[in-house]
Amino acid sequence: MAEAPTPNFSSEERARVMAALNAFSLKDCPRCGNSQFGLADGYIQVPISPNPTQMFLGQYVPCVAAYCTRCGFMAMHSAVALGLMQKP
Ligand SMILES: [Zn+2]
Repeated sequence: MAEAPTPNFSSEERARVMAALNAFSLKDCPRCGNSQFGLADGYIQVPISPNPTQMFLGQYVPCVAAYCTRCGFMAMHSAVALGLMQKP
């Protein structure tokens, strides 16, 4: 049985994600105005379903997330839209 992949980005993957995010002129935090963001250390899955009672069994939107270093506000970006992966 294969080991489960680690949720942490390798240094190469982190650089690839940061390059994709930095390709846009992103705005400051919409909650507190801070201009400093960190990167959540791994891909995030956001469930998507027409039926909210099946949310835990449904499909997912693969995302990366940046978080405000002051207030913690998180902004999720579709990994597919950023060109980091093909649509599953
Ligand atoms: Zn903030």
